[in-house]
Amino acid sequence: MNFCPQCAQPIAEALIDGEIRRACPDTECGFVHFNNPTPVVAMIVEVEGGVVLAHNVSWPRKFYSIITGFLEAGEDPLECAKRETLEELNLHALNTELIGVYSFPQQNQVIIAYHVEAAGEIKLNEELDDYKIVAVENLKGWNMGTGLAINDWVAKRLGAP
Ligand SMILES: [Zn+2]
Repeated sequence: MNFCPQCAQPIAEALIDGEIRRACPDTECGFVHFNNPTPVVAMIVEVEGGVVLAHNVSWPRKFYSIITGFLEAGEDPLECAKRETLEELNLHALNTELIGVYSFPQQNQVIIAYHVEAAGEIKLNEELDDYKIVAVENLKGWNMGTGLAINDWVAKRLGAP
């Protein structure tokens, strides 16, 4: 953001309540770009045989992950998880459970992760071009973002201490 969305003046850095923020220099205007994290809903979608990992069309070829989505205005995160499961994979959520909430500072996001038991015939939407079903015991997360939710869920599922 280079210009104030309220009055179109160039944005500058300013010290506000002890934090350096990008803000409008016009004190009458008072706009401050707080750059708050965006919530992202992530779904560990489990079907018979394992967890669905999908490949996004924009990702490196070998990278597969659980599906994610953005909330609509006013939408409950759980409803978002069910809607995205249907939209992205054409699967219907049967049971759902909150896994946890994870900070993802590298993307300025907060991940809200659900386990979704789902059924149906997988049909990918246009954002995805491939998927695989990975048995829970072969599922490995990584050390940030959605990977943290995967690790927590797998550990709980496999009964790790
Ligand atoms: Zn302004």
